[in-house]
Amino acid sequence: MTPQTLSSITETVADARHLFDSGKSRPLAARVGRLHALRALITENQPALEAALWNDLHKSAGEAQLTEINVTLAEIDHTLRHLRAWARPRRAPVPTALWPARARLLPEPLGVVLVIAPWNYPVQLLFNPLVGVLAAGNTAVLKPSELAPATSALIARLVPRYFADGAVRVVEGGVPQTTDLLAQRFDHIVFTGSGNVGRIVMGAAARHLTPVTLELGGKSPVWFDDDARLHRAARRLAWAKFTNAGQTCVAPDYVMTTPGRIPALVDALQQAITDLWGADPRTSGDYGRIVNERQFDRITALFDGTEAVIGGECDRAERYIAPTVVTLPTVDHPTVGPAASHPLLREEVFGPVLPILPVDSAEHAVQVINRWDKPLALYVFTSSARTRRLFEQHTSSGAVVHDAGLVHVAATGLPFGGVGASGMGAYHGEYSWRSFTHLKPVLRKPLTMDTLRLAQPPFSRRGLRLLQRLM
Ligand code: NAD
Repeated sequence: MTPQTLSSITETVADARHLFDSGKSRPLAARVGRLHALRALITENQPALEAALWNDLHKSAGEAQLTEINVTLAEIDHTLRHLRAWARPRRAPVPTALWPARARLLPEPLGVVLVIAPWNYPVQLLFNPLVGVLAAGNTAVLKPSELAPATSALIARLVPRYFADGAVRVVEGGVPQTTDLLAQRFDHIVFTGSGNVGRIVMGAAARHLTPVTLELGGKSPVWFDDDARLHRAARRLAWAKFTNAGQTCVAPDYVMTTPGRIPALVDALQQAITDLWGADPRTSGDYGRIVNERQFDRITALFDGTEAVIGGECDRAERYIAPTVVTLPTVDHPTVGPAASHPLLREEVFGPVLPILPVDSAEHAVQVINRWDKPLALYVFTSSARTRRLFEQHTSSGAVVHDAGLVHVAATGLPFGGVGASGMGAYHGEYSWRSFTHLKPVLRKPLTMDTLRLAQPPFSRRGLRLLQRLM
């Protein structure tokens, strides 16, 4: 890859704007055509995408299909199915005081949208927002992650072939290129990544008053008390945690349960890990690797000196960390966040290490969650409806999922996004289309019956009373 210069980045964005200004991205037929082009890009190059994901993350073809390719294709198909209905102008009510008048909401695209993606799901997290961006009639500039270089290079090669008119453009690179991109004016920015970089993105966007969708991370907690369905629940928990070697924004980050439940839960997790990735996950073709040595060092430092009850084996040369479970000691006031007693509780783990934090009760777990940033997801494994309600009503998170993990990401009918420190704005399905569309109110008040006179001076008492009643 030859790094793009500031002038070539400026030119790329100007070209995307020029195309948007030409109006060619707006007609419904053009949007549908672009969604089909994206579909073709993915389906016609699926083996190459799978190979790139294997190179970058040791992601197996099965996992790549499930978590990157099929999710994106489902998003495209869902959007194609509903786009005509979403894009239809809608009638809007007008209060009696303004009668006679008619109003409608006219959806219009925003313009040029920048999509910045992370490395952990480098296909899905770049293309899924793009589906909504194109469906809404915008043009797009994509910035894939430099830390998934094989995927980034492949996407940079394929996009110009499938979007020959330049409706979608790719800028490859790291911090310098992203900084140059962020100096440009966009009409919306979708950023997926860490909160720290999210702050940089939002600061840069503020200079142009550009709205942002920030898809960030955080520590997604788990409450576990489902003794009756222990093994089924543990299998789902292990799958959600250790898929992509734990490098998932919505991966269960830590588990809270009562001390008495921990031994049985650990046994069930061990059984689940063996069932899913074999007795030695290092030899499993379905178990991923850590993206780079920097991340490997960060994750291993988090549990350095802590005895693992499951796993714990690491190999830096291979960037392998076994599915690992650590049980933390009982403390009086368990805390999560920078002030926590154990490093595993101080920051998002973002790797295959699952700490179990003993707490007295579900109410206690609620307090732990509420003492720090609002998480991106909260997972509750319980057979008690009362406990489910407790977490739904007394905590705030991007989403709550009962009896499973990760699966809400694939629910095209649900908005996906964080709240508070885990992000702002949401996308997927209609929520994507809505995020990248301006619903423009258009109101017509015919001149024929000039009822507006009532609101104009000179004011009469009778006229004002009548208006007040109508309002
Ligand atoms: P990151 O924030 O380091 O990088 C994301 C993107 O920002 C990359 O494209 C990178 O090139 C760019 N970038 C990095 N530093 C920059 C800087 N100083 N200035 C401008 N741009 C910069 O994130 P990451 O390490 O790729 O991903 C890990 C984080 O992302 C985790 O916190 C995870 O939870 C979060 N995440 C969130 C979601 C979600 O959907 N909410 C999905 C995946 C990952």
